[in-house]
Amino acid sequence: MSDKNRASQKSIKTVITHAGNNPRDYYGFVNPPVVHASTVLFPDSATLASRNQKYTYGTRGTPTSDALADAITEIEGAAGTIVVPSGLAAITVPLLGFVKAGDHILVVDSVYSPTRRFCDTILAKMGVETTYYDPEIGADIETLFKPNTSIVFTETPGSNTYEIQDIPAIVEVAHRHDAMVMLDNTWATAVFYKAMSFGVDIVVHAGTKYPSGHSDVLLGMVSANEKYWDKLYETYVTFGVCAGPDDIYLVLRGLRSMAVRLAHHEKSALSIAERLQNVEGVARVLHPALPEFPGHDLWKRDFSGSSGLFSIVLDGGDASTSRWKRKADAFLDALEIFGLGYSWGGFESLAVPVFLGDRIVAKPPTEGPVIRLQIGLEDTEDLLADIMQGIAAANAVS
Ligand SMILES: *Cc1c(COP(=O)(O)O)cnc(C)c1O
Repeated sequence: MSDKNRASQKSIKTVITHAGNNPRDYYGFVNPPVVHASTVLFPDSATLASRNQKYTYGTRGTPTSDALADAITEIEGAAGTIVVPSGLAAITVPLLGFVKAGDHILVVDSVYSPTRRFCDTILAKMGVETTYYDPEIGADIETLFKPNTSIVFTETPGSNTYEIQDIPAIVEVAHRHDAMVMLDNTWATAVFYKAMSFGVDIVVHAGTKYPSGHSDVLLGMVSANEKYWDKLYETYVTFGVCAGPDDIYLVLRGLRSMAVRLAHHEKSALSIAERLQNVEGVARVLHPALPEFPGHDLWKRDFSGSSGLFSIVLDGGDASTSRWKRKADAFLDALEIFGLGYSWGGFESLAVPVFLGDRIVAKPPTEGPVIRLQIGLEDTEDLLADIMQGIAAANAVS
């Protein structure tokens, strides 16, 4: 195992199994208690006044939220982590906490589209200007800096099209300009991408995806380095965006098996992606672990693995004709194992058509419709056969 895949001295697979709670704190029970709490009692009026005890109110943390937050902090190599009710909240809360009216921020153009909507609506209304940059810009991002640029929001690989960003180069420029770097690490997780080791200040995760792993819970985690942790925690307490204990518990439970699940997602998705490359009716496969993928060298330099989400571009012909959309529909409707639905990271396979019409500089593929595939834990050959059935249906559209 390479160094970038290590947290402290141990393998991440070992850390992920034990990080967070200490069984000895609760009589040796392996898992932490699920603490449902608003009120926390104080032993006397002096303690009540000073609030000098570990827990003081439900919104400020409980043994349950601490167990997950501490586990993520250790896995990420961060100074601290907050747990919020969704992956989207894990993006909006730190953005709101760290910008001020009149700021300029840089956001990658291949960003998760609800992040874009937040910047274009709420942040715009507050007088924060957003510039979307090319995911492949690297150190040239310097040309986009203004005196008031305060945050660079990155996501690597990019949503749906998987462009890989040169994060160390972007961090170097941003820090020279006193700007903070945030990174949405949902695709790779800390198992495959050690964002903080590349100098990222704030790392965001949709716990909804691989950490949960079962498509039954929404949660988000935000980790900060030493420099920004106090302010992040203060933002969390000020907003009151605490998550419910049952949801937090489910994500901690899922986290314990995440590295093992990811190993299967990785192997199965890559095997399918490789074999779809030369299939008639598939114009391109967008998966950063394929040597043919444009960002592959950067991926190889910085990542220690790939997860189970990638996209295929179907041969669509002319984008202005209805044939393009009919092909996508035929593909999706012929699938039997893959479910049609949003989100990903669960045990089950999913497919969705991808909308890329909001891109400004990162131009979407022109060969045909883009279909995103989440490769679940089913048998690889069964999944490939299901996809081939979809491709045959798309190829039959005249
Ligand atoms: C799904 C997703 C999110 C948001 O997660 P939710 O829990 O669904 O709000 C954030 N970032 C990325 C990259 C995602 O794919």
